Amino acid sequence: MSTLRKQHLIDPEICIRCYSCEAACPKHAIEHNDVNVVVDAASCNFCMDCIPVCPTGSIDNWRALAQPYSLQAQYAWTELPARDESADAGPAVEALDEQVAALLDAAHQGAGGRARAPLSAAKPTINLYTLAKPAEAVVQGNYRLTAPGSDSDVRHIILDFGAQPMPVLEGQSIGIIPPGLGAGGKPLVPRLYSVSSPRDGERPNFNNLSLTVKREPNGVASNYLCDLGKGSKVRVTGPFGATFLLPGDVNAAILMVCTGTGAAPFRGFTMRRQRENPALKDRLMLVFGARTPDYLPYFGPLAKIPETFLKKLFAFSRLAGQPRQYVQDRLKADAGQVAAVLRDPTGHIYICGKRAMEQGVEEAFAGIASAAGLNWPAVKTAMRETGRYHVETY
Ligand code: FAD
Repeated sequence: MSTLRKQHLIDPEICIRCYSCEAACPKHAIEHNDVNVVVDAASCNFCMDCIPVCPTGSIDNWRALAQPYSLQAQYAWTELPARDESADAGPAVEALDEQVAALLDAAHQGAGGRARAPLSAAKPTINLYTLAKPAEAVVQGNYRLTAPGSDSDVRHIILDFGAQPMPVLEGQSIGIIPPGLGAGGKPLVPRLYSVSSPRDGERPNFNNLSLTVKREPNGVASNYLCDLGKGSKVRVTGPFGATFLLPGDVNAAILMVCTGTGAAPFRGFTMRRQRENPALKDRLMLVFGARTPDYLPYFGPLAKIPETFLKKLFAFSRLAGQPRQYVQDRLKADAGQVAAVLRDPTGHIYICGKRAMEQGVEEAFAGIASAAGLNWPAVKTAMRETGRYHVETY
């Protein structure tokens, strides 16, 4: 019998083509073409450097195989091939599984880990437009969201797709291809931006969507986007993302935790619920962190949403004369309401924003759960397995 070898694979259905894994791989074992991101079995040394940087968990796929899948085969996939249960079993495979699990545990510390879509979520369309065949959108508007005095320039950008279908669900992202060429004359890699409008359009039943983009110092794509005028044309890939999705169950309890542009998907979530069930009460809660209200995108419109529809808990870290408060502090201050979501079988948690927030938020949940007599690792595992715990940080 030929020797089995564990092969690391990327799930093309879940991968959002952010190319973070490719940038993180010290062995250059990960590469992409216009469609898929793939792993070269001959070069991958299972160092796991690519695992924590993946925002979706599409990177967490392993097969025990006698003959590894070639790069060419992986490039042709639209989904992972089914497991060969007979080959993927037995003591040799179990030993390999244990090795990979131990490495994964170490790599996942503080990261989002494996993700599943909410059971009731609509089925997303993914990868409709690729690097080889991008969509062309037209900028309908580009407005500054943060206060003029703040040194953070965050913009609301509306893109119109005209007659090209762009079926996006709340929580999905699209890729923006910056113009020009990068190092070695290669096309620039697209950057991902969460869609901040609901599925039926920024304007209901128009084929448009919005993005919430923060200008990064010397950032290629963010400066390109933030400077675009009305009527400019933009090349778009995607949509991407098959797990960070809104549950279809309108009565699901949803706790959203964000900083900065992490608010983008939650604007989409909230607008979807406003349009489909404006009478909804006490099912949505948003914990939003920023330096001051001047730094908080959508602060004005958010303030107008009734508290019964969307409970808002702001955490400001630089308010004059006030102690610094971060999202994890706000979660702890409202521990009773947070524990109610952890206990609720329809409770969903979404975390989006800066990667640095993950650890503090996770620790806050652990502390809140423990004070409420819940076992956080068990609660989190159960929530994750039923698509009710989601992290998207970048
Ligand atoms: P880049 O050109 O990629 O540079 C990034 C930073 O690195 C810049 O600050 C730049 O100054 C610095 N840098 C670049 N090269 C060097 C160098 N050689 N040495 C030192 N420093 C360097 N962003 C949003 O604003 N809104 C969103 O809704 C959003 N959603 C996202 C969703 C997902 C799933 C992911 C993965 C990311 C998301 N992002 C979002 C982040 C976004 O994709 C980009 O990473 C971000 O806009 C920066 O891209 P850029 O091209 O402007 O910067």
